[in-house]
Amino acid sequence: MASRITRLLKTIFLVEILRGLTLTFRHLFVRSITRQYPHERPDVAKRFRGVMSLLRYQDGGEKCVGCGLCEVACPSNVIKVVSAEREGTPLKRYAREYWFDLSRCVFCGFCVEACPVDALAMTPNYEYATTNKRDLLLSKETMLALGDQYFPNQPPKPAYIGSCESEMYLLSAKQQHYPTKSDDQG
Ligand code: SF4
Ligand code: SF4
Repeated sequence: MASRITRLLKTIFLVEILRGLTLTFRHLFVRSITRQYPHERPDVAKRFRGVMSLLRYQDGGEKCVGCGLCEVACPSNVIKVVSAEREGTPLKRYAREYWFDLSRCVFCGFCVEACPVDALAMTPNYEYATTNKRDLLLSKETMLALGDQYFPNQPPKPAYIGSCESEMYLLSAKQQHYPTKSDDQG
C-alpha cells in the first residue's frame, strides 16, 4: 500500500522527469571534451572487433585450409569460401577464393571461433566508411593484406598441420587393402 502511494506521489509530482532534468542541467556546467578526429584517434581495446583479416604462417603460407567452417558458423551469410585441392596433394585444400561482405557483418566473432587453424582475426581497424557499398566486399587478397598489416608476427606452422599427407593416406590405404585411384589406373 505504502509503495503504491509513493509511486502515485512520484507520478503526480513528476519526480522522474525532474531527476532527469537535474542531471541534464548539471552537465551544462561540466567542461565538454571534443576529440579532434581524425587528427586525434581514440585508443581501441585490445579485444576490439574491427575489420576481419586472414592470417599467414611465419613462412608466408596461408593458414586458411578452405574448410568452410567459418561460412557455416556465420549467422549473417557474410562469408563465401571457394575451396580447391592443392595440386599434387589431393588431401590438402586451400581457399581458392574467399569473399567477405563487410556490410553484413555483425562482428559477433563466431567465424573466428569456428576456424580450426586460427586463420581469421579481427583487426582494430574501424575506418571502413564508404559511399560505395561494393568497397565493403573484401577479397582474399585484401584480407591477407590486412592480416599482414595488423598481425605481422605469426608463429610457424605447427607440425601437426599438414601431417596428413596424401602419401601417408595412400600408404595406409594400401596397408588396409582399400582400393585407391592408382589401382584403377593400374
Ligand atoms: S563476425 Fe559474425 S557476422 Fe561477421 S563474418 Fe564472422 S560470424 Fe559472420
Ligand atoms: S578461415 Fe578457417 S574456417 Fe574459414 S575456410 Fe579458412 S580454415 Fe576454414
